[in-house]
Formats: sequence, C-alpha cells, structure tokens
Amino acid sequence: VRCLGIDLGGTTIDWVVLDADDDAGVVARGGEETRAERGPDSVIETIAAIARSAVDEHGIVGIGLGMPGPLDLERGRAVFVANMPGWADFPIVERLERGTGQTVALLNDARAFTLAELRLGAGQGVSDLIGVTLGTGVGGGIVVGGRLLLGLNGTAGEIGHQTLDPAGPRCACGNTGCLEQYASGPAIARAAGLATAAQVVEAARAGDARARAVLAQAGAYLGIGIANVALAVAPELVVVGGGVSAAGELLLEPACAELRRRLTVMPAERIRLVPAALGRDAGAIGAALWASRHRRDVDMVRGAAHQRRGRTTEARCSAQPNSEA
Ligand SMILES: [Zn+2]
Repeated sequence: VRCLGIDLGGTTIDWVVLDADDDAGVVARGGEETRAERGPDSVIETIAAIARSAVDEHGIVGIGLGMPGPLDLERGRAVFVANMPGWADFPIVERLERGTGQTVALLNDARAFTLAELRLGAGQGVSDLIGVTLGTGVGGGIVVGGRLLLGLNGTAGEIGHQTLDPAGPRCACGNTGCLEQYASGPAIARAAGLATAAQVVEAARAGDARARAVLAQAGAYLGIGIANVALAVAPELVVVGGGVSAAGELLLEPACAELRRRLTVMPAERIRLVPAALGRDAGAIGAALWASRHRRDVDMVRGAAHQRRGRTTEARCSAQPNSEA
C-alpha cells in the first residue's frame, strides 16, 4: 500500500510517497514552496496537485497531512497555526479530500515526526519513547507500549508548552514560561542577540563563549522539560529532531546531564537521549505512516461491520429451526 505523506510548514511543503507495507520505504520525495501568504485555499491547491500526480505516478491510496499547531482532529481543522494566517478553523481535511478524491488523515507534525522515528528511525524496536522537535516551536510526541499516544483530540505530547517558570515570558499559546520560550530556535537566537539559532550554533562552534553558554542553558531547560515528561512515561529513549537539533552535542549534552540530575527516582542512566535518524523527511514519512494506519482502521471498522452483518444473518438462520421446534 502506497500513501502520500505531506509535511506542511510555514516555508516549505515536503512530501514523500511511502510504501507502507512491512519493509516500508520511501518510493519518491519532493518539496514545494508553501507560499503561505496566499492563504489556505491556494496552499491546499498546491497539496492537491502534488497528490493528483502521486495518484497518477505511484497509485497512492491515502494522504497523511502533518502540520504545526494545535489541531482539532475530530473536525479535521487547525485551532491556530503560528506564522500561517487564515488557517484557524479552515476545513483542511474536507477541502483536501474534495480536491483529490482521497482519504486524508490529519496529524500534528511533531507527532508525525515521532511516529516516523518509532517505525523507521532511531526508535525502531523501542516500546516507550518521547519525541521532541526543536524548531520555530518545540513540539513533541509520546509513544507508550509501541503506540503513539493521541489523548484528548490528539493533543497528547504538547511538551513544548509545559510551564518551566510561571513568571517567565508570555508564549504564543497564551501561557507563560513554556519550555518553548527557552529551547526553540527564536528563543535561542534572542538569548544570544543573533538573528537565527543557526548563527548561534555557528558562533559556538567557532568558540564564542556567549553562544556556547546560551546553547548550554537552552539544553539544560530542554533537559528539565524532558525529565518532567519522563517522570510520567519512563521512556527508554528520547529522540530529538528539528532544525535546532543540528546543534548536536552543544545542546544534547547539557540536556542529558540535566535530565540525569533531575531524575532521582528512576534509572535515569538507562534513558538514552539521541538525535533523530530520518532527517528532513521524518515529518512526511510519519504523515504517510499515519495515512496507512488510518486506512487500516477504516478497513477494520468496515470489516467489523461486515462481520456483524454476517453474524446477524447466521443467528437468524439458526434461530429458525429452533423457533419451529
Ligand atoms: Zn506555550
């Protein structure tokens, strides 16, 4: 079964066609500019065009759409999307299904990342893990017993919005002192007085003491945030991805040290903190996996309904001789 996975971001739309059977693999990949300023109708049309050519060329049978922001999975809409005006409450799933004739499964992008790393990346074979994405925001996903945790309307895993300091800076989500205010790309850039987190990493690699200290501080906050979630999940593995994770050890070493220092009540030395393995494709791969799972679930529901109908007929047939007797 081949599915199309879309990773919709503020600047690019990355996509993969994934063969989602047992030896899952990427069959094709590509990317387009989002042109978010043109509004959701135009972006949906760009995605629909990608999907139509994926149907023609690869025979895909489902679309997974990963995108940022708190989503309303039940209604197939976004609650709000930072940096993409006009997306709040836009009927994303409905429009894309109408434009493609395909089933569309929606998922938060960090959850898609986590699912991809679990199935095909750094988390293969692991039962309990936490996925963290560090970029414009801080996203997350939680896997317990080998299954991605969705929780209430798919919102489980919003670890970037846990409170680290009640008196901290106001977050875009409305809360104050969220992890995102200390460990996201913009937060790191702001703390170092530079334009981007990539510049901070570059300066740190060149030996700049302030840049190194800023990354160490962001890493420590990240470690506290992960420790808080670990207390609830007790994961074997924490997978860290997203653009800012390119800082590598400059960020992950202090995060790991802080994690171990904070976790006094569990075998913290057995929790591995590793960089993501799938790189840029992770979000799109996870979205494609989500589409194939969604398809299976739909098939299962149909199968169960079919079986129920079968049983009803059977019962009626066998009831007949009994009633005559
Ligand atoms: Zn927040």
